[in-house]
Amino acid sequence: DQLVNQIAAGEVIERPAAVVKELVENSLDAGARRIEVDLERGGLGLVRVRDDGAGIEPAQMALAFERHATSKIKSLDDLERVASLGFRGEALPSILSVSRLRMTSRRSGAGHAWTLGGEGVLFARQPVPAAHPPGTSIEVRDLFFNTPARRKFLKSEATEFRHAQNALDRIALSRFDVGFALRHNQRRVRDLAPADGAPARRARVASICGEDFIAQAVEIDESRMGMRLHGWVGLPSFARSQADLQFFYVNGRLVRDRLPGFALRRAFADVMHSAHHPAYVLYLELDPAGVDVNVHPQKTEVRFRDGGRVHDMLFGAVHQLLRGVRP
Ligand code: ADP
Ligand code: MG
Repeated sequence: DQLVNQIAAGEVIERPAAVVKELVENSLDAGARRIEVDLERGGLGLVRVRDDGAGIEPAQMALAFERHATSKIKSLDDLERVASLGFRGEALPSILSVSRLRMTSRRSGAGHAWTLGGEGVLFARQPVPAAHPPGTSIEVRDLFFNTPARRKFLKSEATEFRHAQNALDRIALSRFDVGFALRHNQRRVRDLAPADGAPARRARVASICGEDFIAQAVEIDESRMGMRLHGWVGLPSFARSQADLQFFYVNGRLVRDRLPGFALRRAFADVMHSAHHPAYVLYLELDPAGVDVNVHPQKTEVRFRDGGRVHDMLFGAVHQLLRGVRP
């Protein structure tokens, strides 16, 4: 019921950024090629995510707001696979329980769209006809309107917007094949076309991480020890508050781990005698059997079967890269 969902929302939906993350991930799951995110007042007034994905059948729409009613688990095999990706069928019921929400969706080939809304709970289980191109829009207004205690934990609109933008940026850096747009209070903040080819990927990194980062960063693409490491590493000359310029993806998922920072600092110290805090956008690919992914709603953690090997791989690859560019 609504209370259970609100308690779950406390876990899953901490702030507008979490709404953005959950909705955009759903759009990706639906095979979207372009995803548009509109925010008002840092996402406190409105989070709207519109995609051109597969859409959802009208008969399935109300079901999507029931707990654990994910459409993404069809067999036990799937269950194991999606368990590691965090598909738990909790996001939509949680978000609905603390907002005014509307879902409008049209399957490709359908004559028109269907729409369903609610405030804390659904108004009705039966969707009604609506106008919308193929794909899905979900509009979330007045987040935490019915849980004032939670709303008090939110920061300023500017801060909430920054969190929401970071959430989208982290995803955009992992899916170069998908286009993303972000507007805040009607103002265009990001417009990222699908990026195939190295120059387009570089351009996307530039718009997210800054021209100053990409201008001096060294590109890496190294395979060794059965793993591949690619991406961009900032040099010591890149002086900026870099707290949020550390992106580390393991098999496509953003991971917060001290391991890459540690390996990079050692490589920089060794080759360049520099003790700076490295900036990087790095993608590590390895045999999934070598990593345990544990997806907490707010953060992704991995446990490498052999962290020492991963460290040695990163250290070795970056060490070689730096020796090549050392002045
Ligand atoms: P989960 O993603 O874990 O399945 P959610 O609560 O995030 O759970 O979503 C519930 C269901 O709603 C999904 O399984 C999917 O069937 C449907 N759904 C949500 N968003 C979309 C979307 N953008 N396009 C198509 N279907 C969607
Ligand atoms: Mg989901």
